[in-house]
Amino acid sequence: MSDRYLDLVNSGVGRTLAARLGLPRPTPLRRYAVGQAALTGPALVVGAGDAPLLPGVRAVLRHAGIDVVGPDAGSTCALGAVVLDASAARAVGDLEAARAALVAGLKQLGPWGRVLLLGTPPAQLTAPAEAATQHALEGIVRSVAKELRDGATANLLLVAEGGETALAAPVRFFLSARSAYVDGQVLQVGPGAPEGAGDLDHPLDGKVAVVTGAGRGIGAAIAEVLARDGATVVCVDVPAAGESLAAVANRVGGTALQLDITTPDAGERIAAHVAQRHGQRLDVLVHNAGITRDKLLVNTDAERWASVLAVNLEAQLRINDVLLDATREGALADGGRVISVSSTSGIAGNRGQANYAASKAGVIGLVQALSAQVTGRGITVNAVAPGFIETEMTARMPIGTREVGRRINSLGQGGRPVDVAEAIAFLAHPDNTGVTGQVLRVCGQSMIGA
Ligand code: NAD
Repeated sequence: MSDRYLDLVNSGVGRTLAARLGLPRPTPLRRYAVGQAALTGPALVVGAGDAPLLPGVRAVLRHAGIDVVGPDAGSTCALGAVVLDASAARAVGDLEAARAALVAGLKQLGPWGRVLLLGTPPAQLTAPAEAATQHALEGIVRSVAKELRDGATANLLLVAEGGETALAAPVRFFLSARSAYVDGQVLQVGPGAPEGAGDLDHPLDGKVAVVTGAGRGIGAAIAEVLARDGATVVCVDVPAAGESLAAVANRVGGTALQLDITTPDAGERIAAHVAQRHGQRLDVLVHNAGITRDKLLVNTDAERWASVLAVNLEAQLRINDVLLDATREGALADGGRVISVSSTSGIAGNRGQANYAASKAGVIGLVQALSAQVTGRGITVNAVAPGFIETEMTARMPIGTREVGRRINSLGQGGRPVDVAEAIAFLAHPDNTGVTGQVLRVCGQSMIGA
């Protein structure tokens, strides 16, 4: 569905009108296209005091074809990114160096620029002053994200002990148009040994992915993006969605599996399909299928409650049990990826959505507990939590609710299904071995769930 306000204030006449009336003018986002340069200008890479992560980050950026400049470069062209390593800051006074570096960089940041801070997980530090200093970075990033304009974003990577070896995939994601609608977020990177996927454009070559709810909306976009990245995609949806499911599967060169994920043997059927049709194990499992049955809790009957929890949460738990059985043909391979779609409603709650929020918050508990159980097999388990995404679901909202949903985020617009899909493709990337048990919000820094 098109966002008429966004189109209008970015048209010739609308731009002037918006300026005269003092109306906000959200900038259309720059989204990834194959062959596109990662950034719109060079990346300024600086440290606040000691900066142990910078050599590795510079190497990652150069490998991704990004021009790296230092603070003394005196660059006259607009910067595409500012990367600040503040991971060694241990005293409140050390934050002054971070402020000074950001002030210099932000003044030169161009449209669709990226600000990426690197820190240390505060929980890893025992001294209150040290933990406070690192926690302060979160406040800086979340505020800068709210101050940036022109489609620019700011995010924070907390690099845990040993996480420096697994930084490449997250750094590449945040310093590219793939993270267009991820803003004001904090993600932790733990230790991991990346596969070193040779082909940056097709990192999922040779991999098989399952996407539930792939017949339309966000699920169809996930199938498309994973296929673009090289995966063979098994598209799963209910039999009633058979026609659109077949169309998506054809479009992405994958296979279709008509299946209600709440059926007791859904996991077995997925494993059998993967083994029989693709003759290998599963590499990526995306739990995207979801439903809403909104009502105030006082008006929510047992059926409305149970149906939402059955699709959005219980089915995932049951399917995981089967697909994580290492002895089963067509089950998840070691080094595999499980990615669940949660929601900002699962973080903040939402009026009329106690059942939905319970299911989506439950998903967060699921990924946190499961990730810890499967690290030994090199499997990562994460969730993405979309905010307002332009889909058939949000198009059906009353206009007032829809407009509020679209605007109450730092980018002033709704996200697109492809934005969620890009975040999932990042979590599915073979090099992304250090991010697990995390929830990545794709919400333009929505005030909901803030
Ligand atoms: P959608 O309704 O357009 O698509 C959901 C798909 O899941 C449909 O094709 C549907 O047939 C399928 N499905 C439903 N029940 C199923 C079942 N029992 N078995 C198999 N397939 C089933 O929804 P969407 O907007 O694309 O949302 C996708 C996911 O993203 C959901 O989990 C949703 O909760 C989540 N989400 C969406 C938004 C948003 O703004 N659209 C925001 C946050 C989270």
